[in-house]
Amino acid sequence: LTPLPKNSPVGRLDDDTFSRYAGVVRFEQLPLSRKTKDALRSNKFVSMTDIQRASLPHALCGRDVLGAAKTGSGKTLAFIIPVLEKLYRERWGPEDGVGSIIISPTRELAGQLFDVLKSIGKYHGFSAGLLIGGRKDVVTEKERVNELNVLICTPGRLLQHMDETPNFDCSQMQVLVLDEADRILDSGFKKELNAIISQLPKRRQTMLFSATQTKSVQDLARLSLKDPEYLSVHEES
Ligand code: ADP
Ligand code: MG
Repeated sequence: LTPLPKNSPVGRLDDDTFSRYAGVVRFEQLPLSRKTKDALRSNKFVSMTDIQRASLPHALCGRDVLGAAKTGSGKTLAFIIPVLEKLYRERWGPEDGVGSIIISPTRELAGQLFDVLKSIGKYHGFSAGLLIGGRKDVVTEKERVNELNVLICTPGRLLQHMDETPNFDCSQMQVLVLDEADRILDSGFKKELNAIISQLPKRRQTMLFSATQTKSVQDLARLSLKDPEYLSVHEES
């Protein structure tokens, strides 16, 4: 396999090409890597849901996104796909370390995200880790955390690594995802989130997804997003 040259037109989206993909309805029509398309197809994902249609063309261009849509509307793929595509286009490798951090409110939801990442990322070569509290192997985790490309974590465990793990390095991180942001804030993780965000590179893409648009979600958006696209998908009544 020949690696893609940097900035190859294949799978590259920028503001000029954005409008070409703004109205598409099937994953196959998006300029995604073959590895991602094959995994989507093998999981029988063909047509995009509304929130995926609304957010993917923006997110694939590298824009910050605030996506609001009810539970069950398919928000997970709306950020897992752009994370994989960004690292693919950057030709991210084992020695590049942490390229993306995905934060989830609970261990259970983090585990579900990890399963989706594994199935949609199965043809990519990225390494991923599930960093959640209540696990005994924090010592092994500390030794390996810098080798992982994608971290899926609960806020407490991520902050623990930031505070305690020597040489924990997320200085090259490209994409931050805050999933179920309303629930992260409801669970009282506001201070942890602020501490985490203050330690991440300013130059990054941030995607924030939430089922509801509360005042505290707006506050978090102001703190963490740069010139975001606000995408809110409501049911037709
Ligand atoms: P949310 O995070 O908005 O609650 P999920 O991402 O968990 O929603 O998705 C809910 C369900 O919809 C999952 O079972 C997922 O596999 C399915 N799903 C997501 N996107 C699609 C799609 N484009 N086509 C068919 N099913 C989908
Ligand atoms: Mg979800």
